[in-house]
Amino acid sequence: MKSKINELVRKNIQALKPYSSARDEYSGKEGIFLDANENPFGIYNRYPDPYQPALKKKLAELKNTSPEQIFIGNGSDEIIDLAFRIFCEPGQDKALTFVPTYGMYEVSANINDVDLIKLPLNDDFQIEKDLLQPYFSDPNLKLVFICSPNNPTGNLLRTEDIEFILNQFCGIVILDEAYIDFCDRPSFIEKLTDYSNLIIIQTLSKAWGLAGVRLGIGYMNEEILSYFNRVKPPYNISLLNQQTALEILNDKAAYDDKVKNILAEKEQMIQRLSTLKMIRKIYPSDANFILAEVENADQLYEKLVERKIIIRNRNSVIKNCVRISVGTSEENEQLLNALKEFSND
Ligand SMILES: *Cc1c(COP(=O)(O)O)cnc(C)c1O
Repeated sequence: MKSKINELVRKNIQALKPYSSARDEYSGKEGIFLDANENPFGIYNRYPDPYQPALKKKLAELKNTSPEQIFIGNGSDEIIDLAFRIFCEPGQDKALTFVPTYGMYEVSANINDVDLIKLPLNDDFQIEKDLLQPYFSDPNLKLVFICSPNNPTGNLLRTEDIEFILNQFCGIVILDEAYIDFCDRPSFIEKLTDYSNLIIIQTLSKAWGLAGVRLGIGYMNEEILSYFNRVKPPYNISLLNQQTALEILNDKAAYDDKVKNILAEKEQMIQRLSTLKMIRKIYPSDANFILAEVENADQLYEKLVERKIIIRNRNSVIKNCVRISVGTSEENEQLLNALKEFSND
């Protein structure tokens, strides 16, 4: 039995009377605006549109969905935090995820005083469905976070496992697709209408190359979205960010080139890395980074830092593993040269 969305929402949020901004009360474009205590002079003197309609229209076009199913956050991190604040009663409710995974779910859970249950992925970094059942009967479990392709392991999770969770779990499933644009698997966006409890998170920080802009996107049904709109800060996406994002989204050809380039570089890197003795294992990657097991991750990390080449040491998460983001061909070349030298030492 599926829960009704409003029954999953915290009582105080159900009862919340949201802030009504000047632009909520009058949203026309023409007029003499003396209602928001703005400065009448300048180019950035006006508050941005609180609901970013132009940006949503463009995203809807690109992702083959409707603007009414799109929420835009100040980075995906804002969307993750809002989900906790909308659905989880602090000190009482719980969330669940599969580790190793993206660290922000845990930080955000901790900030919101929500217990995060961490179930281990199996040796292939896939979900063990058998571990799940006891948790799904807990009425305090409100959120399940699934990251696919997963960070830092780099692999897609199996579609049937994600669908199993969507079908069996009565709470909200948050599917983080930050890296989906680097692989062939279609986004779950096309299944949004099948699952009323699904929130998909994507970002402009990776394939679109706009990490500095801070723009995360949530795809969700209109009822869930209405709660996000109520809880978000009224003007969470700046005018500059909206304009820059729209400009980049309008250049799909440049985006395609960049993604193609990164993927070709990745294949090369995988091949060349696999010839080095110090590389014990390269995990399959559906993203723009490579997880590799090396002889000694701490030592390798330090030696590379001395050369001002910075990779991510994940030894504390997966024994002797490092995560390498795919860079430009020059950057990758320098990394490979350094690794070759170390191999000869
Ligand atoms: C990089 C990344 C994000 C992006 O976060 P932003 O706040 O949008 O920059 C989200 N999820 C995962 C798993 C990531 O690795």
